[in-house]
This record gives sequence, C-alpha cells and structure tokens, in this order.
Amino acid sequence: MRILVTGGAGFIGSNFIVYMLNKHADCKIFNVDLLTYSGNLNNLIKVENNPNYKFIKADIANRTEVNQIFKLGIDAVVNFAAESHVDRSIMAPDIFVKTNVLGTQVLLEEARLNKVSKFVQISTDEVYGSLGEEGFFNEETPLLPNSPYSASKAGGDFLVRAYYETYGLPTVITRCSNNYGPFQFPEKLIPLIIVNALSEKAIPIYGDGLYIRDWLYVEDHCSAIDLVLNRGVNGEVYNIGGNNERTNLQLAKTVLRELSKPETMIQFVQDRPGHDRRYGIDSKKIRSQLGWNPMYDFETGIRNTIHWYLQNQDWWKDIEAGEYRNYYLKQYGTR
Ligand code: NAD
Repeated sequence: MRILVTGGAGFIGSNFIVYMLNKHADCKIFNVDLLTYSGNLNNLIKVENNPNYKFIKADIANRTEVNQIFKLGIDAVVNFAAESHVDRSIMAPDIFVKTNVLGTQVLLEEARLNKVSKFVQISTDEVYGSLGEEGFFNEETPLLPNSPYSASKAGGDFLVRAYYETYGLPTVITRCSNNYGPFQFPEKLIPLIIVNALSEKAIPIYGDGLYIRDWLYVEDHCSAIDLVLNRGVNGEVYNIGGNNERTNLQLAKTVLRELSKPETMIQFVQDRPGHDRRYGIDSKKIRSQLGWNPMYDFETGIRNTIHWYLQNQDWWKDIEAGEYRNYYLKQYGTR
C-alpha cells in the first residue's frame, strides 16, 4: 500500500511512520510535512534511508503542492498534519483554521479526485468539549468544541463526514485522548514537566491543577491507527483512549517522584481561558469491533517516556534553543 502520511515529522506522525515501516514490509510511505515549529526531521533518523520512505516538504493547504503529490500514486491518506497546541490557538487562531480546516478539505478533494481507497482523519477527543466528574465521550457524543484548536479540528471532522456522505469517499475518523511518549514537543504537558524538572525550572500547572486528562501511550495509538487504516468501516468514527485518567497535578507529582525531584518545583499559574475540566474516552467500539488492545499501562509508559527524555537531551535542548524560547516567554512570562 502506498500511504500518504501528512504531518509525519511531528510527534505522533513520526512514531506512526517508524511503527508502520517496522511492521509492514510492503508499505511505502510518503511523508508530507511543512516543517512548522513542531515538525522535526530528527524524529525520523531511524527510517530516513529506508527505501520505502520518502519525505516531501509541502503545505497541505496548498492545492497545487498537494495535487503534485497525489500524482505519485497514493492508495491511502492518514492525515496527522495540524496546528496542535491549544495555548497557541488562543494566541493566534487563524493558522489553525487554515491548516486544520482548509488543509483537510484540500486533502479530501485530491483524495476524491484520485480515488484513494482510504482516508483516515486523526482527530481528538477535544472536539466533544468538556465532561463533569461522571461519564465518558462515545462516538455519538455531540461535538461541542471550546477552544479555537478543538473548533478547527471539529471543522475538519465535519468536512470528512461530508465527503463520505456526499461523494462516498472511504473515510474514517479517529478521536484519541492525550498522547505521550518519545519525540513529543516540549510545549505539551508531560514533556514540559520532564524537561523543566531536568533543567531545574519551575513546573507551571494551570489553575488548581485538578483538570483531568486520559493518557494514551503513542505506540498504542499507532497500533490503533494501523487497525483502522486496514479494517476500519468507512464512514465510522473510532474513539481511542488509554483508560488512564489523571489530574495534571497527579501527573506532575508522578514525574517528579520518578526523577527524585521535590514537589516544591510545582508552580500554579493563571488558568487557561475556556479550559476543559475533564476528558474521558469510551473506546469500547474499537476494542470490540476491531480487537484493539493497548499494550502499555501508564506506569510503564511514563517510565519509558522519562527514560527517553533522559537519553535524548540533545533532541530537546536543540528545540529549547530555537523558537520555543520566545513562545515559552510569552506563555509563562519567564525563560
Ligand atoms: P505535532 O504538532 O507534533 O505535529 C504536527 C505536524 O504537522 C508537524 O510536523 C508540523 O510540521 C505539521 N504541519 C503543520 N501544519 C502543516 C501544514 N499546513 N502542512 C503540512 N504539515 C503541517 O502534533 P501531534 O501531537 O503529533 O498531533 C498529530 C495529530 O494528532 C494532530 O492532528 C492532532 O490534532 C492529533 N491529536 C494529537 C493529540 C496529542 O496528544 N498529541 C491528541 C489528540 C489528537
């Protein structure tokens, strides 16, 4: 199968490419990525010389560029490419609409004209909005996004649905909970905690720290996407969750304990506007219909992740020396 993976230089996309090339000798991957601040070809060193892998720098929102890429002969699309950080969407929403809505539509249109056999849209549980203390999001939960990021992802999802309903494009949408693991950009919560702890910097925690997220190890997410790509039913949505709900405060304490650092490093900072209180995912559908099972419990996943950031300090120190410094200063008012 010749697969167009967009956003493959980012966190989940790069993990997915390595996972697929290791698992399937017969797949050829075209990684299309604009290399924005979060795209990093250092994530793909393991596969850069693999004959079944090709990188193309392009913008998914640019119709001319995307049109050229489809001429290479594409059987399936997995669309990871996105502006992905909620805090950045609050600072500057425009680019979120361009990439996450328009970019998705450009890919859908070229996929339709080129008659691809599968289009997998990688979405998020954040499109469902916020939960109280009880209950879970299932695939029938109405979409009630609260941030410019989640609204733009919901916009992309609606277009995917429309291309299935209107044109019969064989689409599938996955909605996953928060991922963690190797190669995650340090602006996201778990790497932020690890990297700040290792750099002896305060750990910023929003509001009262009692916001709850469900954590999914990235390799488990990759195995779920592989299943959906090969066996997902067209027109369907599949939720993917780790069954690992933690408050942000619990998470920070766990990481600090693993690194033998004091809890006094935690610093409560002003809350994020429109902050969703809790996400919780019901992933019964993908488990029962496609037989997906996560392999990693949270304790193993978080230890692997901490170990990776300890072993790969050059990777994140390079990032910290770049644009990330300015973002961090703007967001937290300190370096
Ligand atoms: P990321 O920010 O690490 O990677 C995004 C990648 O997309 C980067 O390599 C970037 O260069 C690329 N990109 C951005 N704009 C582009 C454009 N216009 N054209 C081509 N490439 C472009 O994000 P991630 O954490 O790997 O997330 C991947 C996908 O998974 C996103 O669609 C995101 O919404 C979704 N998701 C992520 C999480 C999570 O916890 N990380 C949770 C749920 C859903």
